[in-house]
Amino acid sequence: MEFTWLGTAGFIFKSQEGEIAFDPFLSRGKGEASPFNAKSFQNTEAILVGHGHFDHTYDIPDIVKQSEVKVFAPGLTGKILNIRGVPRDRLLLANNKELLLKNLKVRAFHSAHVKFDMPLVMSTLHRCGIMGCLGSCHLGVLYPKGLVQTYLFQSQGKKILFMSSAGATDPELKIYRDLEVDYFLAPLQGHSQIQAIAAKMASIIKPKVIIPHHHDDFFPPLSQNISVDVFREELKKLNFNGDVLEIPLFKSAQI
Ligand SMILES: [Zn+2]
Repeated sequence: MEFTWLGTAGFIFKSQEGEIAFDPFLSRGKGEASPFNAKSFQNTEAILVGHGHFDHTYDIPDIVKQSEVKVFAPGLTGKILNIRGVPRDRLLLANNKELLLKNLKVRAFHSAHVKFDMPLVMSTLHRCGIMGCLGSCHLGVLYPKGLVQTYLFQSQGKKILFMSSAGATDPELKIYRDLEVDYFLAPLQGHSQIQAIAAKMASIIKPKVIIPHHHDDFFPPLSQNISVDVFREELKKLNFNGDVLEIPLFKSAQI
């Protein structure tokens, strides 16, 4: 099986059982240009959307136009994608009551978004300037977060957990621990202490392998690179004894 990291929280996952994608964001503003485009999803069965923010949903209408892909999204995010041009017959509700895709046993869980903290807000203001931040305000208004979903799927006997934002509560994390996750796709974005937050989450879930994501400079100056080395140090402090698999930006890993 193969993971391709599209940058931000975006992945394409391929295996004998099928091909799915998560939160593709290809536009990237002034960030390093993506080698992927809407046509990169022609063999993808479904896109699973974690939440509605622009860096998780902006490019989906264009991708849907260029492919046969269907889109699973939480309620409000699905409605907004429909307004933005995704036809109703391509949109499915990412509810957490049933398997969403049988071949990869995809399930959704109610999750939560990490809360932006004051040091992060201040450093973002400093990078963008007041006018830059006001200019980016429309992104927050037009792309509300809505419900946040985390997804679990299975392939070749392995359980893989995709989280779009690091806001899960301890009870939610314990559900994942009890499910015995093999691969945890951990988002490193949205808080000045995000490495410590994600490390604590991983120490509760206890996956065999962590694949960090969302740590690239995906939309500067709103974003900045987040250090995976600091994340490794935080994991060490918590005696995490699994592995960290760092996929380079826009590259694939066979697992
Ligand atoms: Zn977000």
